[in-house]
Amino acid sequence: MRHQPLQCQIGEHCRDKVQREIHCVITHGIAAAEPAIKPERQVRQRPRWKGMPQAAGEQRIIVEMERSGEAAAERDQCDNNEKGSATRKDNISVPKTKVTAKDTAAGATPSKLVPRPKTAAERKARVAKILKLLDEMYPNATCALHHNDPWQLLVATILSAQCTDKRVNEVTPGLFRKYPAVADFAHVSQAELAQDIRSTGFFNNKSKSVIGAAQKILNQFDGQVPKTIEELLTVPGAARKTANVVLGTAYGIASGVVVDTHVQRLSRRLDLTKHAEPVKIEQDLMKVIPKDKWILFSHQIIHHGRALCVARKPKCVECKIDWLCYAKDKNV
Ligand code: SF4
Repeated sequence: MRHQPLQCQIGEHCRDKVQREIHCVITHGIAAAEPAIKPERQVRQRPRWKGMPQAAGEQRIIVEMERSGEAAAERDQCDNNEKGSATRKDNISVPKTKVTAKDTAAGATPSKLVPRPKTAAERKARVAKILKLLDEMYPNATCALHHNDPWQLLVATILSAQCTDKRVNEVTPGLFRKYPAVADFAHVSQAELAQDIRSTGFFNNKSKSVIGAAQKILNQFDGQVPKTIEELLTVPGAARKTANVVLGTAYGIASGVVVDTHVQRLSRRLDLTKHAEPVKIEQDLMKVIPKDKWILFSHQIIHHGRALCVARKPKCVECKIDWLCYAKDKNV
């Protein structure tokens, strides 16, 4: 085995480096500069067996490893520092470090090598680790829709349905200059407003919703966007997702978890829910995510869904959550 300094980007990200160190050794043939584990034996060829694919140039290798005393101590220290994880058994155990080169060929950890939590305590510890990693990746995640007050955020959120935040942010500055107050929206004709927001798509429905919301807020809530989810759900165009966005971002009120398309996809990939319907997903998330994290978690997941955990070909090799993620559609 060659020994030379290796800057393995993957290895830098993960505190529990076992999986990634194996990846380094297998794919690069060398250990990282400061390996968390040391090879117990040299890499050796695994004998071919009947039925093995005959792909050209394919190598199947077994690497048997054990953690060095220092790395094990470091991990134990980290485990002890985990907030709320009182006992060692609460933590996710590391899988047996015996993998084939094929398993780690592309870099990310194959789903089958990621241990599933079996008990409620293990599930809770896993979620806590996911939240911590999200904090590391997206410490300042916030709503991408530009706004200056709750009303502007409500309008922007209504316009963002089936539209990118970027496009909405291009439309809203001119819109709010033309209609600076809630009353201005309440009195505009639908045809005119539809033309103003045409580029956001579904402009007829959206213009109806915005005018209806303005009239409702003006007539029943003294021109102020209400601060309870029950009241907000009576406003035209404001379903649970929109209500949660407005309450969480504009007022800092954790009324629920925003479930948009990214949150739907990632919640299932991270095994935080088995459901597909937004209402049920939100109920599951409200059970497993601490309430004081509901607002930030939504923003972080949305950012993660845009940056790395995209719908097709997620960038798992760059994802810090890789070692906790056993999604079937991981890109390994
Ligand atoms: S990018 Fe998504 S699917 Fe891939 S490891 Fe991260 S969370 Fe899992």
